Amino acid sequence: MGNENFRFETEAVHSGYSSDEHQGSLVPPLYQTSTFTFSSAEQGERRFAGQEEGFIYSRLGNPTVKILEDRMAKLEQGEAALAFSSGMAAVSAVLTALTKTGDHILCSQGVYGCTFGLLQLLKEKYNVTHDFSLMASKEMLEEEILPNTACIYIETPINPTMKLVDLELVSKVAKQHGIPVVVDNTFCSPYLQTPISLGCDIVIHSATKYICGHGDVIAGIVVGSRDFIKQVSRTTQKDIGGTISPFDAWLLLRGLKTLPVRMDRHCDNANLLVEFLRNHPKVERLYFPGNSDFIEDNKIMHKQMKKPGGVISFSVKGTKETAQYFMNQLQLVKIAVSLGDAETLIQHPATMTHAVIPEEERSKMGIDETLLRLSVGLEAWEDIQEDLEQAFEKI
Ligand SMILES: *Cc1c(COP(=O)(O)O)cnc(C)c1O
Repeated sequence: MGNENFRFETEAVHSGYSSDEHQGSLVPPLYQTSTFTFSSAEQGERRFAGQEEGFIYSRLGNPTVKILEDRMAKLEQGEAALAFSSGMAAVSAVLTALTKTGDHILCSQGVYGCTFGLLQLLKEKYNVTHDFSLMASKEMLEEEILPNTACIYIETPINPTMKLVDLELVSKVAKQHGIPVVVDNTFCSPYLQTPISLGCDIVIHSATKYICGHGDVIAGIVVGSRDFIKQVSRTTQKDIGGTISPFDAWLLLRGLKTLPVRMDRHCDNANLLVEFLRNHPKVERLYFPGNSDFIEDNKIMHKQMKKPGGVISFSVKGTKETAQYFMNQLQLVKIAVSLGDAETLIQHPATMTHAVIPEEERSKMGIDETLLRLSVGLEAWEDIQEDLEQAFEKI
């Protein structure tokens, strides 16, 4: 495809692949192989010494995986990318690459449950400490950045309360301190938000979610500068080993082609359902980036996101039992964690994705026991609404 830049939808279909290099195959071939033969012992020596380009062993790189990495780098407007066996393999490879004993990580007020678990592990085993911050102003950030802060780690929208962090603001302050900014962009996908274009340094995805879009792969992606990606590929990816399988990379390449079409539909459905939930008598609170009730968040949303996304959180009036009873009445909507699939999914963060977080921390993050998270799928929105309504009528 040369070096031309096409629009996002076109790059999602074509970027990183040339059929001329693969016998004319329209679709990227699946190189389902663990290792690669060398034409001579000397060639093997040169490849290991880094004097010659080429593949060695699939934990260190694979042609199908490389196409996915190049495509993701393009879509996220970064220089290079690396694919991993899970979102958490990506998160752990990045955080262990960026920190050493005694360092500090400044995090957004709320992170994915297992990222929280990893931060605990880093603290207990390696004395890498962390703090959570609202990151609401330059002053607040200046106060919370410590001399040993090694990176800033952000989720926006924050799972599951959908609060936003101003990426441009944080990256500006971080730059003055020479601290890299890492963004978990899972909830947006590059179609809705490109943190690198806003000055952030590293983007992480749980590709399990919108990138895959079909609920059949667990995978992760990291995008960043060529130097950083090279460092991770030669250290924390190679030696810890959370490598993606070529088949999963192939499925992600297939998923990516329809990312823009799927995201538009997820977002349209979510907007319609938000209107239904906003004034519903059984809904206590609604959490959604486009919600005009949060004026400040609304400003940030328009600045950095193309659309508010496909995930809605809401709390039902009542108790934990009311929330669970409501879930049990749903018929079309499935009770499951994960998000970004064709199927609409509902989960109960306090007892599921965020159960590992101690209750005190959890309530600081705004997660109470009546909060539910809905990942809006691709079904007809009327059918989703009718299913929610019949369940509301029973509580
Ligand atoms: C799911 C998720 C992860 C973890 O990804 P896996 O692919 O499940 O390992 C990390 N961050 C966010 C925001 C997620 O939703």
